[in-house]
Amino acid sequence: MPSDLIVRLTAPNGRQYDQPTGLFINNEWVASSDGGKITSINPSNEQDIIAVHAATTQDVDLAVRAAHQALRHPSWASLAASDRGKLLYRLAQLVDDHRETLATIETWDNGKPYSASLGEDMVEVSETLRYYAGFADKNFGQVIETTADKFAYTVREPVGVCGQIIPWNYPLAMAAWKLGPALACGNTVVLKPAEQTPLSILFFANLVAEAGFPAGVVNIVNGLGSVAGAALAEHPLVAKIAFTGSTATARAIMRSASGTLKNMTLETGGKSPLVVFDDADVELAAEWAHAGIMSNQGQICTATSRVLVQRGVYDAFLEAFKARVRDISRVGDPFDEATFQGPQVTRAQMERVLAYVDVGVKEGATLEMGGRERLVVGGQQKGFYVQPAVFTNVTPQMRVFQEEVFGPFVVLAAFESEDEVVALANDSQYGLGSAVFTRDLTRAHRVARRIEAGMVWINSSNDSDWRVPFGGVKQSGIGRELGEAGLAAYSTIKAIHVNMRSKL
Ligand code: NAP
Ligand code: MG
Repeated sequence: MPSDLIVRLTAPNGRQYDQPTGLFINNEWVASSDGGKITSINPSNEQDIIAVHAATTQDVDLAVRAAHQALRHPSWASLAASDRGKLLYRLAQLVDDHRETLATIETWDNGKPYSASLGEDMVEVSETLRYYAGFADKNFGQVIETTADKFAYTVREPVGVCGQIIPWNYPLAMAAWKLGPALACGNTVVLKPAEQTPLSILFFANLVAEAGFPAGVVNIVNGLGSVAGAALAEHPLVAKIAFTGSTATARAIMRSASGTLKNMTLETGGKSPLVVFDDADVELAAEWAHAGIMSNQGQICTATSRVLVQRGVYDAFLEAFKARVRDISRVGDPFDEATFQGPQVTRAQMERVLAYVDVGVKEGATLEMGGRERLVVGGQQKGFYVQPAVFTNVTPQMRVFQEEVFGPFVVLAAFESEDEVVALANDSQYGLGSAVFTRDLTRAHRVARRIEAGMVWINSSNDSDWRVPFGGVKQSGIGRELGEAGLAAYSTIKAIHVNMRSKL
């Protein structure tokens, strides 16, 4: 193996580990065919971490062919469903065993606080894998009553080679959401990480091999979306694409995949509303509203980025919310335990947030908190840090009310009546998450039904759970991940009709 395919690194927190930098195909590390690489950088100081091989179209073809062969190979195709589950359980355990290293890599590459990487993301990764491990031998068909002359039943079969395209906001967790159900159902996978954050999933690849998955079942090819991602979406041997990212890219992927009629799950953007009624527990609402938009540097597809507050509690809520931003949103080095908000993932994302602050001001909204300048942290001029931005006096015509910013950026508006707030909440091309704060039981459930969204949190926000389906309506996506519903996209139903008559 060329020596640059695994490199010993020391992370900013002092942890040493072996970082793979190649393409993971057939359980082996290989270089990209043209030697092309993408450099992963540390968003907290803008320094290079390491250059990682970037797949060409030809490399993606190699990975897809490996996955296609593995699909039919007896070591995978004939493996008992329970044994498939055991491989996933083993992988989940290996993630737990290596969680400190994985969390270190995630924080170094992405900029999210180490406490969140370790205490939230890595838990989500291993628990999601474990949850789907349990489904491996509980995914079966039906016997269907028809007539006495027919015995009809269904079996569930894997879809085939699954192309999985991952975003940078939860690099390893988004991979686990897709790998768990795909592998539980007996598929094989070619996964493309986001070019900005490939490092944790490359380390994870070694754990896949160590867990005992046969060669070719999981292949990981870092690369550019426009090259490696597009090659996956177009490849005739790829049966399904699962994607998380922007709505614009989802549209491009649908177009590329239309030539071969691929199965598809898309989890895209959002501008999720959080509604606070007069009878809500205002402190509780402020706490969740803060977490719902400011966690993960605001880089969450379900972030409740539009806060709609009934007039009677508007002032009290605004004060409580601003106090939380002031007291909790400590921006700083992601390896510092006191940090709540690390840097944005890239310069592009930092500039996007700052540009939207300008947009909001130009549109006439009131900037209550947060600066238009990039933030200097610890005296160093480097790093993609921004101040959390809070806008009030926002109206639905404004771009800052309608467009996804994907950063620590929130807009507030007041409302008078339930009908008005339902209309406001639904005044969006998106329909991903939503939150409702009220102590009125019937209103909570009534409004939950009226909001156009894939998910509603009552008296919480972004309370995501691997046992519960996740996904959106409208321009927020197609299909569901997580929960039992997450399995539907990873198997096809075959109907078998058995004639019981001896004559036609
Ligand atoms: P993006 O373009 O949607 O990237 C998501 C994934 O799709 C990446 O792996 C990307 O590869 C890949 N990709 C890009 N173009 C492709 C193509 N033509 N065919 C196949 N795959 C392709 O997102 P982004 O540009 O990093 O971020 C832009 C905005 O997207 C953000 O500001 C945010 O609004 C939204 N976003 C949403 C989520 C979410 O969780 N829903 C996550 C991330 C971003 P590359 O890494 O090479 O681009
Ligand atoms: Mg990086």
